Amino acid sequence: MNNCGPNWNREFDCKLCPRLAASRIQIVFPTPCPRAGLLVIGEAPGADEDELGEGFVGQAGRALDALLVRHGLERNRDYGVANIVRCRPPGNRKPDKTEIDNCLPWLWAFLLRTRPKVLLLVGSTATEVFLGPGPLHWHIERSRKSPVLLAKDAHPILQPAIRRLHGAMDGIFAIPMPHTSGMAWNRKAPDGKTWREIGEEQVELAVGCLELSYAT
Ligand code: SF4
Repeated sequence: MNNCGPNWNREFDCKLCPRLAASRIQIVFPTPCPRAGLLVIGEAPGADEDELGEGFVGQAGRALDALLVRHGLERNRDYGVANIVRCRPPGNRKPDKTEIDNCLPWLWAFLLRTRPKVLLLVGSTATEVFLGPGPLHWHIERSRKSPVLLAKDAHPILQPAIRRLHGAMDGIFAIPMPHTSGMAWNRKAPDGKTWREIGEEQVELAVGCLELSYAT
């Protein structure tokens, strides 16, 4: 047993969630995250990701890439991508609590291996796993006042990893943002702005936190 998570031998053929293991084409592993860099975390792979074996390659992922490229950030060089669960839920339903609990130790191990400094949390599932329950808009407002991730807010499975990362790295920033699918993107948030505008602002905040972390 590795002390950085569950049994490594099972990582490449994990079947902890029988329904997802039966319906997936493949497990979608996180892509490399530069050490002390930016890690984008979404909910789960979609159909394109399941087929191609890489996260954030569908339309929503490309929209996010385009936003980050505007800030000079390229995938696999300046940021990596991961999901809360690594297998596609059938019909793109939300992963259930057991599936999330099953998969978080893999994310836990990945965080400890790559030690990201800034987490960009895409959508409400990733946001609630790291920042606790609450409406996405409320989390976004809160992150603007204080973007530092507190271990106590995170899912209990992740708390030890986050404490260790804080100890080694003097704080991690966690920035929630709306899902980047076209439908979600063009709707209005409670403050009247479109979710797209809010998404752009949150990416800017994440980039600012990354620059701050490099400067200290
Ligand atoms: S979602 Fe995660 S825990 Fe569940 S079967 Fe896939 S890799 Fe394993």
